[in-house]
Amino acid sequence: MAETDPPVSLKLVGTIHGRFSDQPTDDLTNPDTTSVWLRNNGFPTVLHLTDEEVADLRALRQAIFDIFTAQTTGAAQHPAAVAELNRALGHGAVALASVDPQAPDRLIAVDAAADRADAVLYRIAADALALTTGPHAHRVRQCTAHTCGTFFVDTSRAGNRKWCSAATCGNRARVAAHRTRARDEVSDT
Ligand SMILES: [Zn+2]
Repeated sequence: MAETDPPVSLKLVGTIHGRFSDQPTDDLTNPDTTSVWLRNNGFPTVLHLTDEEVADLRALRQAIFDIFTAQTTGAAQHPAAVAELNRALGHGAVALASVDPQAPDRLIAVDAAADRADAVLYRIAADALALTTGPHAHRVRQCTAHTCGTFFVDTSRAGNRKWCSAATCGNRARVAAHRTRARDEVSDT
């Protein structure tokens, strides 16, 4: 079962590791760690967010988490989460531009503010919007590892994928199941 690269909005949610564990860790604790994450996820390398902008990004992350939690559990959407997402969408500055001198007849969509924090928020919010209203909305699932909390798009044909990643949560679950089995076998003897 192939795991495709997750949409960036779900990757943002995944920057909290072990969300439901005793000791969750966060990749976005300050501007420096946030820069690393942005760089690793295809955002311009010149970006360096201020503390306030990091707080905005974390607020967007919470909103996306809340929206997908409601969507995957059938609970009512929280208006504050929707408002937060809409605020980020309001930063959009997409424009048409001619960028290829070899093809002067061609226009492409460019993000007019790609090197600004606003554009980061916009791009991630637009990704969440496309995901929650698009054809794969019903395929968004929450990882079944009980401490994880990350969402993923289940692209498996059977639609029965359980973990955000087979390599991390899936492997941990298999190891735990194996340990339980081994313990049961010992106590049976
Ligand atoms: Zn997981």
